[in-house]
Amino acid sequence: MEKKERHPDPFPGFGRVQRPTRYIGGEVGSIMKDPAKVNCRIALAFPDVYEIGMSHLGYSIVYHGFNSDRRVYAERVFAPWFDAEEEIRKANQKLSTLETGTPLSDFDIIGFTLSHELAATNVLNMLDLGGVPVLAGDRRDGDPIVIAGGCSAANPEPLSDFIDAFYLGDAEPVFSELADVLTEAREKKWPRNKIVEAIAYIGGMYVPSFFDPQYENGKFTGMLTRTQSFPTPTRRVAADLDNYPLPDKPVIPLAEAVHNRIAVEVARGCTRGCRFCEAGMYYRPVRERSPKNVIGYACAALDNTGHEELSLMALTTGDYTRLGETLRALVDECEERRVEISLPSMRFGTLEKSLASELARFRKTGFTLAPEAATDRLRRVINKVIDEEQMIAEVTALAGMGWKQFKLYFIIGLPTETEKDIKGIVELSKKIKSAAGKGAKVTASASTFVPKPFTPFQWEAMLPLDEIHRRQSFLRTELGGSGIKWKYHDARTSVVEGVLARGGRECGRLLLELHKRGAKFCAWTDYFNKEAWNESFAAAGIDLDKALGTKEVADPLPWDHIDMRIDRKFLESEREKAHRAEPTPDCRVGGCVDCGACDSSGTETRLAADAPALPERKSGQDISPQPETFSRYRITFRKFGKAIFLGHLELKSVFEKALRRTKLPLRFTRGFHPQMRLVFSPPLPVGIASEAELADVFLNEEVEPNKILDRLRAEVPEGLEITRVTEIQPQQSSLQQAITATTYSVDISQLEIPPAQLEKSIYNFEKLDEMPVMRKQDDRAPMDLKIFVQDISVASGQIKFSTDVVDGFMVRAALVLEHIFEFTDETFEKVLITKTGIEMENS
Ligand code: SF4
Repeated sequence: MEKKERHPDPFPGFGRVQRPTRYIGGEVGSIMKDPAKVNCRIALAFPDVYEIGMSHLGYSIVYHGFNSDRRVYAERVFAPWFDAEEEIRKANQKLSTLETGTPLSDFDIIGFTLSHELAATNVLNMLDLGGVPVLAGDRRDGDPIVIAGGCSAANPEPLSDFIDAFYLGDAEPVFSELADVLTEAREKKWPRNKIVEAIAYIGGMYVPSFFDPQYENGKFTGMLTRTQSFPTPTRRVAADLDNYPLPDKPVIPLAEAVHNRIAVEVARGCTRGCRFCEAGMYYRPVRERSPKNVIGYACAALDNTGHEELSLMALTTGDYTRLGETLRALVDECEERRVEISLPSMRFGTLEKSLASELARFRKTGFTLAPEAATDRLRRVINKVIDEEQMIAEVTALAGMGWKQFKLYFIIGLPTETEKDIKGIVELSKKIKSAAGKGAKVTASASTFVPKPFTPFQWEAMLPLDEIHRRQSFLRTELGGSGIKWKYHDARTSVVEGVLARGGRECGRLLLELHKRGAKFCAWTDYFNKEAWNESFAAAGIDLDKALGTKEVADPLPWDHIDMRIDRKFLESEREKAHRAEPTPDCRVGGCVDCGACDSSGTETRLAADAPALPERKSGQDISPQPETFSRYRITFRKFGKAIFLGHLELKSVFEKALRRTKLPLRFTRGFHPQMRLVFSPPLPVGIASEAELADVFLNEEVEPNKILDRLRAEVPEGLEITRVTEIQPQQSSLQQAITATTYSVDISQLEIPPAQLEKSIYNFEKLDEMPVMRKQDDRAPMDLKIFVQDISVASGQIKFSTDVVDGFMVRAALVLEHIFEFTDETFEKVLITKTGIEMENS
């Protein structure tokens, strides 16, 4: 028999954790390099779980961007879930990367992606778990340099005690500059402090230890650099996105990602100027990719991954100048491939009717609309001017095209909000429900306004906790019985976000106190540790009322020493206009309003309006119909090593994507949501290897089985091996019906049970007339193992047996071992169960 080794576990006790595929790596698209042949090793740390990190486009851009430089090896690491952390700590191990299993402490650089403020506690925890001193001041020569970037690094001060350098702005320009510095540092054997200093001179970098906060009578008065010549930390902008490729071979996650799709960024930046929106200010000016590039990346990424969904991404996708022709070209491409298209960030009034009808050709998963405020007055305050009649008309039109699910996003606690505005949320939601028509599902969600740095509302107060609760409770009551589903953000997490968003260096103490108390995954409402936060606020001496209150415009703010390319005067003027409920037009249509984002060096609004036109649309008509006849092929495959941790749904997704990449003439079900015709043998429990898994795939044409075998073999990830493909009759019984028995072998070489004891167990079993067992706790009737289990034996460090299918029922191998040999959880961890074969009817 061929090898059937268990993959060396990422950490001991690994078999016990939820979703082991979060920790194994080896995905198609993951990048493997020889660490000994690079100048610099970077651990790209995402302070949340794998499924969220793997859905983050920015993280993927950074991973592929750094790895495109042959001098650098960038690997991935995610925050381990509670159970995995417990196992890592228990075994005295360190948090390690997916690609090579290297502990964080062994890297040159650890680069955190900060997508929201509440990730801060996970940053500290990952450093600690990775064997890296949590405080930047405690790090010495040989310790990694910790860098953090991302939208929520706009105000770096709360994390400045823990991070050596922050990177501000678009990541693309820094990849090679950082590699240059690290290569020189390695060649010249620079000490750590010299490397940090060199990094500080890279454009976009901010090293907080080179800046000292100043106070007068305990009041913050500003920041001073330690060296007068030190440049002002300034946000970097990738001026022309067409010069920076998107990943066209993104990693295909094994564990189901939150967004299991290809994300193609059509534009960065937004100049609509919503006054609460941090991303809208942070990513200015607008830069659009050319339609040719968008389509090129989309098609290449679909070819390379086999994803079933494609998403066009931007802060407001509907504003993309060339959306119409790009979408039409992609609709034709995607329909033929049975790939869905989604536009996750549409704004009321930006989806032309003709485009909506193109999208209507796909499954209508739901439409998300974000009025944010429910009255015209408040929408003028926040500078999101959308007419109510226009909203209602749009929903009516979408409902007429078949959309039945609408999600509405509101914000409560916006500056100047009154009771009338709160009641307006109820009224507008009801009007939209009525426009959506009978049977439509409408969900209204309300988050709480959090004032963010570098926005016109950075000086505004945030609602206190009890007032958030009161307004949420009012909305819950008023929307009750309306048929509208009501959702809201946990008020406690919003308050904490508010403190960290505008905090200064005093927040360092708060975060350390939280770390001591084990706070982590704070954005996960169910895991929000209220006691830890209350105690830590008190221990750090943070006055919540002051932290959430109005800031004086005349007073310095903790982030004023950073140039985010947003002029303070512009923000002040926008704030004044907000209080007069006066809108400011989008600079693309209303002319420049001197926000400060553009400059004479080429950083300016770049629209794709003048990019070359796409070739004339070829079809636009229905896709080629599938033939009436089809062929059916049975695939036999092995599952070993890392792949034994794939759950059944994960395995199905891996196969579907691999089959799409083969470009075989796959057959799909009909309808709006075509499904690949692929059927597997009964699911194998996680952790069990197999020499004999089966799947039937249906093709629209006859294909030589060896051709299928060769193509599929080249596409499946590590741990799966296609061993055979045979053609079978289309009408042959289903796999579920055809299997009559399964054989197993259990490697017990790591067990200390004497063989005689195992033989005695077999003897005892064989002499019984029956052995009734419950398959599950809720089983009403027991099953008799004597009817199912045959040919049980023990020899040469292996237990072997077969289980029959009786009246359509089968028993799990684990159940046999548990009842006949009294295996415990501990025993199971030391053995490897392998499904060695199956018997089929008429075989
Ligand atoms: S500087 Fe002017 S043109 Fe550029 S983003 Fe700001 S407002 Fe728009």
